[in-house]
Parts: sequence; C-alpha cells; structure tokens
Amino acid sequence: MKKLDSGTDYARFALGEITVIALRDGYVDMPPSRLRQAGDRPFGSDLPAQVDLVAGMLRLSVNAFLIIDRGQHILIDTGAANAWEPTMGLLPHALAEAGVAREKVTTVAVTHTHADHVHGLVAADGTDTFPGLTRLLVPEEEISMFDSIDRLARFGQHRLPLGDGFKLSPCVTARAAHGHEVGHTAFEVSSAGETLLIWGDIVHVPSIQFARPELTWEYDTDQDQARETRQRILSLAAKPNFFVAGSHLEFPGIGKIAKSERAFCYTAL
Ligand SMILES: [Zn+2]
Repeated sequence: MKKLDSGTDYARFALGEITVIALRDGYVDMPPSRLRQAGDRPFGSDLPAQVDLVAGMLRLSVNAFLIIDRGQHILIDTGAANAWEPTMGLLPHALAEAGVAREKVTTVAVTHTHADHVHGLVAADGTDTFPGLTRLLVPEEEISMFDSIDRLARFGQHRLPLGDGFKLSPCVTARAAHGHEVGHTAFEVSSAGETLLIWGDIVHVPSIQFARPELTWEYDTDQDQARETRQRILSLAAKPNFFVAGSHLEFPGIGKIAKSERAFCYTAL
C-alpha cells in the first residue's frame, strides 16, 4: 500500500488495484476519564504519562474512508456533519479537495451507529450529503438503533442490514468486530496480495491502547467483548502486507501493526 497524493484534509492511497482515500471529518476532545482500566475504572492521578493530552483532553481524530473498487465508490462512515461538536463536519470539503464529487458515492456502509459515523449522511444544510446513494448498509444488530435516530428518519426505507461476510464489492468484505457497539463491523479490502482492514473504533487512544490493548473506552458498550475483539484484531493485523485504517487514529489514520515484546505497536503510513 502506498500514498499517491494528499492535501490538508485527504490522503489517497493505492492498495493493489484499489484506491482508498482517507477523509478528515475533524476531531473531538474527550476527558481522559473515558479511558478505562480493568473493571471499567477510570484513571485519575495515576493516568500513565504516555497518554497524549491536548490541554488536558484526549484529542480523537474523526476519519472516514472512501474505497474505489472498479469505479464503484464505497464510503465507510460519514463523519458527524453538524450533529456534534463544531470541530467535525469537514468530510464534504475533504471529498471535494480529493477531487471526488459527492454524487459519485453510491454505497455508504457504517461501522456502527454512533454520531460521528452516521450523522454525516445529512449535510449541515439539511440536504442529503450523497444524492447518488443507492445502497446504505447498517450492521444488522444496530438497525433498530439507526431507525431511532430522528435526523436519519428519511433513510428508514432504504437502509439494508449488513452481516459478517457480506461482500460489498469483489474486493471488500464485512467482518464482525463486535464489542465497541453491538454490531460494530470492520471492512476488509484485499487486492494483489495486500489487505487493508478499515476497523472503525477498535482503538480510541493510540498513544496507549497499542501498548496496553486491555484498556477500554467508556463508550465501549460491552467492555469485555471490546477488549477481546481489539486483542484478536491486533494479532491478526500484525503480519506482512496487512494494513489498518482507524476512525480515531491520527489522520490519515492508516498504518501497520507490529507485535512488540509485550503488546503491539503502530506505525503510520
Ligand atoms: Zn467513533
């Protein structure tokens, strides 16, 4: 996998015959108490020094990824638009900067139904962000959660349930990665011997969760399952020709995993 070009808010990569574009939606700051140790306990004055803070807060990048497989444009996650903090909502601008018309996005698939992953379906002015959308895939376990979001009511007729193993295109397959949310799903992109796993919210705090993958996140719905899933996915990702893309890894959020002596380490591409 190699970088082709980049701008302020996008970075374009080639993975075999596939193009993947990382898109910056923005960032969100969260208190360090969201990071949890065993037993769902927050840190206090014992917060490990390696945890990166910006003015006392954890700063999470919010990224989405566009896959172009034989002309088919598949967007994984949508950003938050204007539904959360004003530090998010850049995604339409990022697409334009990358030279991709929003109308070209015909498939949107979401890793899970939290605000920073689905609310960007509706633009800040209330119109559809992706007017050419023909397929909207939502993890089957979270269909009822999706349907309960008022902002997204207009999509109720069109969303389709997404399950483990579903093929979105010849090179893109859904992989269940439950724990952070009940239907949390990753997307495996494979071409010419290389694999990229777009893993959604497997890691929220890159400065420590690679070294200590047992640490969880307050918003992990099932803390034990999230921990298990993170450890399983990190193990399977630590191999040659395997890359990962994360919603909350520092933009552009694409890199490689290696096994370290006691845990894992991440190198951005
Ligand atoms: Zn998230």
